Amino acid sequence: MESEIMQIKVERVAKTRIHDVDFGNIPFGREFADHMFVADYADGKWGGFRIEPYGKMMYTPAMLGLHYGQTIFEGMKAYRNTSGEVMMFRPTDNFKRLNVSAERMCMPTIPVDLMMEALRELLKIDDAWVPTSTDSSLYIRPFMFATDEFLGVKPSDKYRCVMFTGPVGPYYTTPLKVMVEDTYTRAVKGGTGSAKSGGNYGGALYPTKLAQQKGYHQLLWTDAIEHKFIEESGTMNVMFQIEGSLVTPPTGDTILKGITRDSVLKLAADLGIDVQERRISIDELKSAYDNGQLLDAFGVGTAATIAPIELIGYKGVDLILPPIGQRKMSQLISKELTNIRYGKAVDKFGWMVSMN
Ligand SMILES: *Cc1c(COP(=O)(O)O)cnc(C)c1O
Repeated sequence: MESEIMQIKVERVAKTRIHDVDFGNIPFGREFADHMFVADYADGKWGGFRIEPYGKMMYTPAMLGLHYGQTIFEGMKAYRNTSGEVMMFRPTDNFKRLNVSAERMCMPTIPVDLMMEALRELLKIDDAWVPTSTDSSLYIRPFMFATDEFLGVKPSDKYRCVMFTGPVGPYYTTPLKVMVEDTYTRAVKGGTGSAKSGGNYGGALYPTKLAQQKGYHQLLWTDAIEHKFIEESGTMNVMFQIEGSLVTPPTGDTILKGITRDSVLKLAADLGIDVQERRISIDELKSAYDNGQLLDAFGVGTAATIAPIELIGYKGVDLILPPIGQRKMSQLISKELTNIRYGKAVDKFGWMVSMN
C-alpha cells in the first residue's frame, strides 16, 4: 500500500513562467508556480497521483462542490533559510487540519504522509519559485472539493484534492483598522467555523464589505449569541496585550485553531510572558483601553503572519492603540518567529521541516 500511494507521476512544463515574475515586488495570491499536485478520490480511495503543469481544470456545471459547498482548503508557507534550504513550518499540522475540516464537511481524509510526499516533490520541482528575501515565501494552497456530477444534496462520492503554490509578499502592507462586528455572525456553536471550509469565507464577505465602506480593513468578529465576546478577525486569530499579559480567546467550534496562534502562544510562554487563553469581552477591552492598559492588538495567521492592529472601531468610536513602534512584546515574538522560519534562531520547538 505504502509504495502504491507514493507513486506520483510527473509531467513538467515545457517552459517555466518564472521569468515573468518580479520577485522584488510580489503581490499576495496572484502569482502561481509552474506545477500543481492532483489526486482524485473515487470508489472509496485516493488515486491518480500526479504533478502536472499548473493550469485550467474542466468540470461540468453539475459539479456538486460548486452548488452545496463541499470545499475545504489549507494555507501554508515554504521559506528559504539563510543556507538556501527550503523549509516548511509545521506542515503536518496543516495536513492534519485539512483532515479535520474534511471530517466536518463529510469529505474523505487524505493521508498526511501522501500530502507530505507530494509537497516534497512539488517543492523540488518548483524550487526556484521559493523566494529568497525574508519578507517573502512560497504560499502553498492544498484544497479539496466535491466532483460528483449530481444535483442531489448529499455527500459527493468523488473528490479532487489539488495543491498548488505561488510566491507571496506580505498579505497586509499597513497596520490594520478593524471594526467590532455586532450584527452579523461568522460562526456559531455547532456550526462550521472551526473548519477551513469555503462557505465560512463567502458568508463573511458582505459584513466585511460594509466595514470596508466605513474605512476599516477587517472585522473583529464577536460571539453569535450576545455579540459581546471577541472571536477572531478575517483569516487571522487575534491577540491583545493587556498590561504585561498576552490574552487571546480560546479556540473551539467558532474559532479556527490557528497554527500561528499556537506557535505565538508557545513562543510567548517560552519568553516568560504571562499567556492567558480566555474569553475577552468588548467591555473588558474598552475598560482596559480607558485605563491605558490595552497596549497592543494584533492578528496572527499564516498569510498575515503577525499583523499589528492600529485601531479598533466599536459602535462608531475608534480605540486608537499605541504607535506600532512602541509594541515591544509583539515585535519580540514576531522577530523570534521570523528568525526560526528563516533559520536565524534555534528551532527549539522542532517546527521546521527541511524539504531538500
Ligand atoms: C487559516 C485561518 C486562521 C489562521 O490559521 P493559521 O494556521 O495560523 O494559518 C485563523 N482564522 C481563520 C478563520 C482561518 O481561516
